[in-house]
Amino acid sequence: MNIPRTNLPRVVIIGGGFAGMAIVRKLIGEDVQTVILDRHNYHTFQPLLYQVSTSGLEPDSIAYPMRKITRNSKKCLFRMAEVKSINAEKSLIETSIGDLIYDYLVIATGSKTNFFGNKSIEKNGMWMKTVPQALNIRSLILENLEQAVITDDPELRKALLNFVLVGAGPTGVELSGAIAELKNHIVPNDYPDINPNEMNIHLLEGLDRVLPPMSEKSSKRAHEFLEELGVKIHLNTMVEEYDGHLVTTNTDLALKTETFIWAAGVTGAPVKGLNAEAMVEKANRYEVNAFNQINGYDNIFAIGDIALMQTEDYPKGHPMVAQPAIQQGKHLARNIMNIVEGKKLEPFKYKDKGTMATVGRNRAVVDLDKGSFGGFFAWFIWMFVHLWFLIGFRNRLVTFFNWLYNYWNYDKAARLIIRPFKGYENQMKVDKEEI
Ligand SMILES: Cc1cc2nc3c(=O)[nH]c(=O)nc-3n(C[C@H](O)[C@H](O)[C@H](O)COP(=O)(O)OP(=O)(O)OC[C@H]3O[C@@H](n4cnc5c(N)ncnc54)[C@H](O)[C@@H]3O)c2cc1C
Repeated sequence: MNIPRTNLPRVVIIGGGFAGMAIVRKLIGEDVQTVILDRHNYHTFQPLLYQVSTSGLEPDSIAYPMRKITRNSKKCLFRMAEVKSINAEKSLIETSIGDLIYDYLVIATGSKTNFFGNKSIEKNGMWMKTVPQALNIRSLILENLEQAVITDDPELRKALLNFVLVGAGPTGVELSGAIAELKNHIVPNDYPDINPNEMNIHLLEGLDRVLPPMSEKSSKRAHEFLEELGVKIHLNTMVEEYDGHLVTTNTDLALKTETFIWAAGVTGAPVKGLNAEAMVEKANRYEVNAFNQINGYDNIFAIGDIALMQTEDYPKGHPMVAQPAIQQGKHLARNIMNIVEGKKLEPFKYKDKGTMATVGRNRAVVDLDKGSFGGFFAWFIWMFVHLWFLIGFRNRLVTFFNWLYNYWNYDKAARLIIRPFKGYENQMKVDKEEI
């Protein structure tokens, strides 16, 4: 791996997501050797993946090179590697590029798509956790529109113009809203052979409301926004199967579609090797104490989506969103330095800054401690917060100008099929397998 052993304690971080980036940025100036590993050479800003899928942004606006974070420090190193397993007895990790000894190990591997054991969905559906997967969805949407123009089979045309999304959490809501905007503003101009009324966007949700993690008020408002945009919402509807062409559910609803996007849940993405008691099996997340130490280990920590910290306020652990990951990353950096310097550890306390979701242009909902609101102001706040948390000045600038351009022109600049998906599904298997 070409990592020199120095006399500084070595902190190895697996995963350069929100949690991994937060801790590495805090440790960079400290007297430890920090090694961060990720299977990608970039950080992904997952909340905006849906804009890549729907041609609103190019991927380089929401991805940030890992080496740009580490390049100014000799004590902080990045290696692009897949971590395969942990050998805690030897304080060693095994990776795709060799083994590495650690003094302190931080697992920040996040989560992966949860299919709840449904093999037909895993085989035939699309999902969106990474940039390549978002690009696959973008290509598929655009390729299906192209095919709809030329097919003379009316049943196939209908299926090509039916877009089915499952899971009305923030991802499903944001994606269906953005596809509806494609239908309302792009399709009429770019595809004069398609009557936009032929295009249908179906959002299926197993529970009785959209945005179940948010307040009833926001959920109702988001439901209204989606309907205004023309999204057909099917509540209390569980998907049973998708065979690549037909979706069947637990109700009478059955839909023919060539675009089936699964956004119905995530589960932890642990690394093999730790003892069974380290895991909360049902959640597939590591059980951690208030200092993010994994159950049974003093020098192995977990932060972000992969960590399950049960507290009085959060008996089922913190929500799997960006803020707990960022806050835990920053906090653990302080605690690791406390250990190194022989000081007392400080327990983590999560500060909930609120929840938000956007449905489209001028439409968003925000839940804060003091209440909920929706509409233009919420949308403005949503944009500001997302720009603020995007990593890198260039990314912020490019995204801001893209949004400005989209806003004035009702346009989405990135509607390019750079890398076709259809016919190449097997070659794209790697992108799909990394769930
Ligand atoms: C589509 C989508 C939309 C979202 N929208 C929002 C939102 O609007 N607001 C919000 O707060 N949250 C949102 N979230 C959730 C939020 O992105 C996550 O909670 C957050 O990314 C968790 O951060 P993390 O650092 O724990 O994991 P991640 O950000 O997932 O990072 C994990 C990293 O670990 C790497 N990795 C994993 N396993 C290995 C391995 N074995 N070897 C090497 N590297 C590995 C991955 O490549 C990845 O870079 C969204 C998530 C998705 C998927």
